[in-house]
Amino acid sequence: MAASPYPDLWQQGWLNTARHLPSPNFGPRPDGALIDLVVVHSISLPPGEYGTGAVQQLFTNRLDWDAHPYYQGIRGLEVSSHFFITRAGEVWQFVSCDDRAWHAGVSQWRGRERCNDDSIGIELEGLEGLQFDAPQYAALAELCRAIGRRYPVRYIAGHEHIAPGRKQDPGPGFDWQNLHAQLAADATTAGWQLPPRQD
Ligand SMILES: [Zn+2]
Repeated sequence: MAASPYPDLWQQGWLNTARHLPSPNFGPRPDGALIDLVVVHSISLPPGEYGTGAVQQLFTNRLDWDAHPYYQGIRGLEVSSHFFITRAGEVWQFVSCDDRAWHAGVSQWRGRERCNDDSIGIELEGLEGLQFDAPQYAALAELCRAIGRRYPVRYIAGHEHIAPGRKQDPGPGFDWQNLHAQLAADATTAGWQLPPRQD
């Protein structure tokens, strides 16, 4: 295997510049999985409240289900994402990108189903329908560049695109044009295919 041109960026699927908080919610990817998709999500717990630490607790099965009425509806949920970007643009990582995180559910994109098998999930702290903050776009673009230097990603889409009718995140408040401009500015990500515009 050829040496990576960025040997300090990744170690066994973990990005060195991210805060690492390992989640038990993952499994192996199928043999030969081509990791060519990044899935963008949004999440906040309780919904619309930021900086509570509850997302990190959810992804590590440490959320107190009785701490808020909303949690009754997700009690026992075991999910994860590879990454979580806070409102301030801080990047957390929960699952090695070499492994399969549990973020997409029933899904289909670029002619393939079960997107968890061969995608990298990125959660943005936010609420579907509302806006996201500039540091989040900058952190997302930088994260995409790092991913593009290690994995053969060619596609990026929202959860709403890969699970239409079932999921709405990151929603209409997410500025795909902003992301597109930032991805286009770097050779590593310039060729990534975004979801088709729906306007
Ligand atoms: Zn989602």
